[in-house]
Amino acid sequence: MNDEQLLRYSRHILLDDIGIEGQEALLASHALIIGAGGLGSPVALYLASAGVGKITLVDHDDVDLTNLQRQIMHVTSRVGQPKALSGKAALAEINPGIEVVALRERADAVRLAELVASANVVLDCTDNFSTRHAINRACVSARVPLVSGAAIRMDGQIAVFDPRAGDTPCYACLFPPDQKFEEIQCSTMGVFAPLVGIIGTMQAAEALKLLMGVGTSLSRRLLLLDAREMEWTPIKTARNPGCTVCGH
Ligand SMILES: [Zn+2]
Repeated sequence: MNDEQLLRYSRHILLDDIGIEGQEALLASHALIIGAGGLGSPVALYLASAGVGKITLVDHDDVDLTNLQRQIMHVTSRVGQPKALSGKAALAEINPGIEVVALRERADAVRLAELVASANVVLDCTDNFSTRHAINRACVSARVPLVSGAAIRMDGQIAVFDPRAGDTPCYACLFPPDQKFEEIQCSTMGVFAPLVGIIGTMQAAEALKLLMGVGTSLSRRLLLLDAREMEWTPIKTARNPGCTVCGH
């Protein structure tokens, strides 16, 4: 690290849990963020400010006026621009010392496998089940940890799926791909603005911990948040031996 970096990251370096070694691990890391919306905004902002050396931001959509109520990485002057590029502009302003790759695309299974293989951590910041399952399959097969978040109305959830540890569940163990879930999206149901900030910020924290090997991750746990009562419910999760994705 040079003098500018030692200053920029000094409040991390001061932490016993992080220090120079942890900060250098972040600078050498690559995080893949899929979805540059409500969850992706705080995730990307914190990973960039904290000094994750390379961030790939994937989103096929453009910034819309209805996004600005909660997608804090985007601003009024960038309405109409691709979200991936608007996000890249926001991150460059916070931290020009990191590499940000902006991909304006809807990643399919083949593309996801390619992208996930080069990442040290993947953040699922999307809002539909089919993409969530495609991301999970890519992470299981490449053995890359996945930090999964979701927020709708006044309800949020967060979990970590870490295929590097032997007996941990994957996303499909909890939500089988063949099971029909009611697809609810915030475009029709609405979402409480700071809820995506709460969940997204926790996703960023879990990703940074995984990249540095700090503390205990949310692997084997699903946290549910009822923001109306501001009540967290932790649920212990286990591997499903019959899982079609990670089972044998
Ligand atoms: Zn599984």
